[in-house]
Amino acid sequence: MFSFDYHRPADVAGAARAGGTADARFLAGGQSLVQAMKLRLAQPAALVDLGTVPGLAGISVQGSTLRIGAMTRHSAVAASADVRRAIPALAALAEGIGDPMVRNAGTLGGSIAHADPAACYPAGMLGLGATVVTDRRSIPGDAFFTGLFETALEPGELVVAVDFAVPARAAYLKFKHPASRFAMVGVFVSQGAGGVRVGVTGVKSAAFRWREAEAALAGGFRPAALDGLELDPSDVNGDMHGSAAYRAALVATLTKRAVEQANAPVAGAPA
Ligand SMILES: Cc1cc2nc3c(=O)[nH]c(=O)nc-3n(C[C@H](O)[C@H](O)[C@H](O)COP(=O)(O)OP(=O)(O)OC[C@H]3O[C@@H](n4cnc5c(N)ncnc54)[C@H](O)[C@@H]3O)c2cc1C
Repeated sequence: MFSFDYHRPADVAGAARAGGTADARFLAGGQSLVQAMKLRLAQPAALVDLGTVPGLAGISVQGSTLRIGAMTRHSAVAASADVRRAIPALAALAEGIGDPMVRNAGTLGGSIAHADPAACYPAGMLGLGATVVTDRRSIPGDAFFTGLFETALEPGELVVAVDFAVPARAAYLKFKHPASRFAMVGVFVSQGAGGVRVGVTGVKSAAFRWREAEAALAGGFRPAALDGLELDPSDVNGDMHGSAAYRAALVATLTKRAVEQANAPVAGAPA
């Protein structure tokens, strides 16, 4: 390891101050940042530890909005009764991230700020309709992911929470990379007051909404509405784990299955 300054701010204002210094990086669960530092892909001059900042972790539901604090661990989202009741598909998404160690350390804020092109939460943000709340402003989820490991966050801008719109029905399905369990392809579908949304991850340099599928499903939220629809493989990433054509086919298949799952009756609910 190279040397760097280490800050433990007492509050959000202190974190924002320390995070605003040149080459400083926020440290959340460390599941992506520390690995990048070990590989020298990141060499911050200072780490600003968010672990001691009060008020950044927590889950609440207000009306049709589910708010999850940036420092909320994946395991807490997966286990939350509020999330399971409001958006069970989001609890399932969190439950499927990595392994228990990753889920007990990794956070929502770290995941979306890192913007890994194969991460799960970006699909959930786009597939549900979300708003990212920072220490400076609110950023529409649709405008948040701007490229490979790139977001709309400005240098030193701190994610405080994410507001998710509670849908009528939703599902997330991913085809896991067998080693890392990141998404080779992940699809989050929902239907709610804002219409139909389909968020896709693992396929391009950043997560995106599959607008053609959304339009097709708006006419009828059932798998058959997607018959014959597929992404253009020339616009899809391919690698040693799966060709572009394979990933495009996976997106189509998983989207259909996700719609089917979203429509399935909830166990224990009255018929
Ligand atoms: C083996 C393994 C398997 C994994 N599998 C999956 C998977 O299946 N699906 C998946 O989605 N992810 C997966 N991950 C990634 C995991 O979800 C991480 O938790 C996530 O990428 C980063 O979150 P973190 O809290 O550890 O952030 P950190 O590593 O601490 O930070 C990541 C980046 O975000 C910035 N940051 C952190 N918090 C904030 C904030 N509040 N505001 C602004 N910037 C901030 C940091 O400065 C840094 O640049 C996996 C990771 C590992 C190691």
